[in-house]
Amino acid sequence: MLTPEQIKEVLKNNVVNLRFHARGGQGGVTASNLCVEAFYGYGVCQPLFGAERMGSPTESYVRLSSNEDLVRSNEQVYGPHFVSVLDPSLLGEINVAAGMPKGGWLIVNTVMDQVSLQDIVGRKDINIATIDATRIALDVLGRNITNTIILGALIRVSHLFTVDELSDAIMRRFKGAIAGKNIQAIKQAIEDTCVYDIGIEIDFSLDTKVPWQQVKPGLPGYKELDKAGVWYCDEDVIPYGSSQVMTGSWGEWEIIWDKEKCTDCAQCWYICPDFAILREKGEDGLWHMSGIDNFHCKSCQNCINICPVEAISKKLKQGPASCAVPEEGGGE
Ligand code: SF4
Ligand code: SF4
Repeated sequence: MLTPEQIKEVLKNNVVNLRFHARGGQGGVTASNLCVEAFYGYGVCQPLFGAERMGSPTESYVRLSSNEDLVRSNEQVYGPHFVSVLDPSLLGEINVAAGMPKGGWLIVNTVMDQVSLQDIVGRKDINIATIDATRIALDVLGRNITNTIILGALIRVSHLFTVDELSDAIMRRFKGAIAGKNIQAIKQAIEDTCVYDIGIEIDFSLDTKVPWQQVKPGLPGYKELDKAGVWYCDEDVIPYGSSQVMTGSWGEWEIIWDKEKCTDCAQCWYICPDFAILREKGEDGLWHMSGIDNFHCKSCQNCINICPVEAISKKLKQGPASCAVPEEGGGE
């Protein structure tokens, strides 16, 4: 296990990835938010909401680093160094150790022993920490909400932030007695956590991200576009696909791109919901923005809002009213 000084060194040049598994209503997303709020450096967190409702499995992700440039990604964490499981019943449903590198830490709210847990997740090369968070939650909070308690166990094995830093974050988020009880529960969790350190350290410099893959829904009619994505077109099922629908007729604005101002940052391309930002492959082998596809641009204005250099603007499609007052003698 790394000491507080060692993890501080790691954070200078690396990003530390965390993943939380919970059930809807257990506060997994709040736990990830609190990590970022308690951390002294830079951090981002994102939830993954599927068909979430109370009790369904949820995930949330955190990236932390002292280096601002390393935490700009908002994508899912695929290679978590620390995984926290708030509900033991998830172990039978979810591969909670997916993507973890050797030496990663799996932290579970359970009364099970650590070796049995290694067997259940099928990994002998990861460290395990267990905490009976449910009992602490019921004793101290009076409700089975384990999100802050699991953070106590995380502090114990990661030293990513201190109990005082987490307490400050909790006091900013919760009020009065609730904050006090959560801090009490966290302190107890730090003491009660069972640590099974197998002596393998994480190689934080490894890129453990799973390569991105094109989604292949496997349904009849889905075809891959050469630009990106898929569209549905099976003439036997429906007569035409969405790429042939003129969504450009939906909006009232004409979107205008200024090539001179554009820095080719591609943020508009990522955010456009209609693949209406055109790009061309240049002689340098890279893709460069080349214009707006007005056939598909539906004037949502996302690109205008995100462009950092105001290279995109808008103009009302319709001209001024030309004949507001009928000419004398006109009409019927
Ligand atoms: S206005 Fe919306 S649809 Fe049109 S190019 Fe911009 S982001 Fe795409
Ligand atoms: S967001 Fe702006 S600067 Fe970036 S590629 Fe689009 S138009 Fe160009």
